[in-house]
Amino acid sequence: MITTDVLIVGAGPVGLFQVFELGLLGLNAHVVDSAPQPGGQCTELYPDKPIYDIPAIPVCGARELIERLREQIQPFAPVYHFNETVVRVEPNGARFIATTASGAVFDAGAVVIAGGLGAFAPRKLPLEDAALLEGNAVLYKVPNATEFKGQDIVVSGGGDSALDWAIELCATAASVVLVHRTSSFRAAPATVAKMRQACDDGRLQFLEGEIVGLEHVGQALTVVRVSARSGLVRRIDASRLLVFWGLHPALGPIATWGLTLDKNQVVVDTATFQTSIDGIYAVGDINTYPGKRKLILSGFHEATLAAFAIKSRSTDGAKVALQYTTTSPALHRRLGVAVDVADDA
Ligand code: FAD
Repeated sequence: MITTDVLIVGAGPVGLFQVFELGLLGLNAHVVDSAPQPGGQCTELYPDKPIYDIPAIPVCGARELIERLREQIQPFAPVYHFNETVVRVEPNGARFIATTASGAVFDAGAVVIAGGLGAFAPRKLPLEDAALLEGNAVLYKVPNATEFKGQDIVVSGGGDSALDWAIELCATAASVVLVHRTSSFRAAPATVAKMRQACDDGRLQFLEGEIVGLEHVGQALTVVRVSARSGLVRRIDASRLLVFWGLHPALGPIATWGLTLDKNQVVVDTATFQTSIDGIYAVGDINTYPGKRKLILSGFHEATLAAFAIKSRSTDGAKVALQYTTTSPALHRRLGVAVDVADDA
């Protein structure tokens, strides 16, 4: 059981900034995200796109914004839990017990849902046999790389995950074939160069085409069928298929937590960003209220008011004094800077 002042569900830009606003008021936070890294849509959907509407930053890339946010909140030492989906949140007196799909349990004074469009889940291979073999021969993440030693592996995808794993596994696997529908890749140029070098060295093969079928004996995969653009279908011997087609969001478990929803969005009070359940708050793209705009900037404002409401609730409704960051004892203590004001955090 992990005890925390606040559990933040979602490490998108708004969930990350929530850590900062809570920290200023002396509240600590654990942040859970089903994705393997922070950033939500910024990282998953448009890492290299420029953003022009963050105040005082005329332009910055989405990935860079997430890096800056992480740096900004670091003084408050958030604890991250990636690759974890919060599946249940239940009141326990004035506190909450939250459980993840892998069985981690949190005891939190308040819960902030910063779930954006929902939990990111891997895009799956749309073949009946793939569903049958999922978790054994067909995998969407690599829990333990050593189990691929001496195996014949097909890796599918054109992004960083697919290329990184193809390069990594060809050192120990019997064979690795990378399959992608085109010969242009989304991965970083340095990774693409490494992949091409591995192909030139004969350690890795690249095949342009689409996976159209799987052959198997019971749960054991034997062949991956790949259709080339010409229509020619090749049969590749394989005992494991790794699919890295990116992630897509789905509201998922949040819909079952008993919150008032409007068109799959969580209804909130705009003074506090509290949901229909006392002690559970919702900020960022996941919430709805009159005039809502799904912008990072709006989420930052929402996180600020939610933090004040959470602090007030944690002190039996006491009024929370406004403190500028220049004189915030909580922030200066974390930064190791002396400040000559009373510490009421
Ligand atoms: P998200 O970024 O969606 O993050 C939510 C996180 O919660 C995800 O990582 C998800 O995995 C996690 N999560 C959800 N449910 C669970 C669960 N049960 N357990 C664990 N984790 C969970 N906005 C701007 O202001 N400026 C722009 O220029 C801009 N450009 C955009 C361009 C594109 C192409 C798109 C798609 C959006 C753009 N936006 C822009 C919108 C902006 O990205 C969103 O407003 C912002 O990402 C919302 O942040 P968030 O933290 O609320 O949610």
